Amino acid sequence: MSEDTALNVDLTLSLGYKHGFGAMSPFMRALTEGRALASRCPKCGDVRFPPRRICLNDGTQTHEHLLDGTGTVVRLTIGSVPIPLSAPAQEQIFAEVAMDGTDNRVLARLTGDPARLLAGAKVRLTPPPHTVPHPIQALVFEPY
Ligand SMILES: [Zn+2]
Repeated sequence: MSEDTALNVDLTLSLGYKHGFGAMSPFMRALTEGRALASRCPKCGDVRFPPRRICLNDGTQTHEHLLDGTGTVVRLTIGSVPIPLSAPAQEQIFAEVAMDGTDNRVLARLTGDPARLLAGAKVRLTPPPHTVPHPIQALVFEPY
């Protein structure tokens, strides 16, 4: 069969399903409410955001630890990126944020006045202005 006679049709597939977050549910739920839920190791005090069930330092089971949601931009990048389950590609600002009271850094999106979004800027987690398709899309900081 030659290329000229091969039959091709356009098909669209759609798949709906429930996506469970398991032990990450409290973290994801808090994000959609604009709250920063981290983990804290009762043995060594290590604080992680996003939370870890088990401490990376000593293997101890961690506890939930609520942060105030503030932090500092360490570095950032700007690019045209499609956010999954959302609008087509548009310019986004992503940053490595050192949240106050944590021992790690988190990759997140930034929003707000671009002139204020620089390395060293103080930022805080902001509640999403509308329902997001996936809770992790609520991981957005703005300058304050
Ligand atoms: Zn520990």
